[in-house]
Amino acid sequence: MTPPTMWEAVRSGEIVFYRFRPPPWAAIPHGFLTRRGGVSLPPFASLNLSRSVGDRPEAVEENMRRALAAAGLRPEETVTAWLVHGNTVAVVGWDDGGRALPGVDGLVTAARGLALWLRFADCLPILLADPDLPAVGLLHVGWRGLAAGILEAALAIFESRLGRAPSRLHAAIGPGIGGCCYAIRSDVIEALRPRLGKDLPLHRRDGAWHLDLPEAARRHLHRLGVPSVTVAPVCTACHVEDWFSHRAENGRTGRFGVWIRNP
Ligand SMILES: [Zn+2]
Repeated sequence: MTPPTMWEAVRSGEIVFYRFRPPPWAAIPHGFLTRRGGVSLPPFASLNLSRSVGDRPEAVEENMRRALAAAGLRPEETVTAWLVHGNTVAVVGWDDGGRALPGVDGLVTAARGLALWLRFADCLPILLADPDLPAVGLLHVGWRGLAAGILEAALAIFESRLGRAPSRLHAAIGPGIGGCCYAIRSDVIEALRPRLGKDLPLHRRDGAWHLDLPEAARRHLHRLGVPSVTVAPVCTACHVEDWFSHRAENGRTGRFGVWIRNP
């Protein structure tokens, strides 16, 4: 379990977000926005940042305005993506500022001051950083992404495009669904087995296999050569007062925002 001091809440008006404190994260602007402090009504209450879940567009617009203000960012300083649970990771720069890239689940940048921004409800937000270059990455990782090799794809981009080996990188895994709440079908296990092999943290409860998704990602990042992996001590499905959870709320919910800015 991560000590509480490694994971702290920050208040900005009615907005509450969390961030990691251990090095190098204290020196890299980032945040995991809770669902608190927005204007959306149930089931999207209240800081829903997704336009594709059925929420009112004007509510999402106001939420986004508040979220960006809390993050200290202007829209043109951010790059986002339309997520598809795939393994495509894009390298972005200032030319992409203000854009939403279609069909990618990971963004990487070496552009100083540019921020990456994605939306979540149970899938893992994974931050990557090389504080020396500096360069940062933000990934949206569910079981499909793990099975399709999104972690491999992201590390390959750092190596081939930025010249940084996995051993130089730091990773941090934000709030996602935990093993306590993530019952999965056996075909999901079979899909994960080729890449994650025997490292799958599975346990059987109430007649169903449960997967500890954050631990699977942590082990896999280690195996791929990333020495430093920090994990948030939070299960989204256990804490729907703070986080949107697709599983716990039967698919009728919003998406919380995560950003990371290259220092
Ligand atoms: Zn849980």
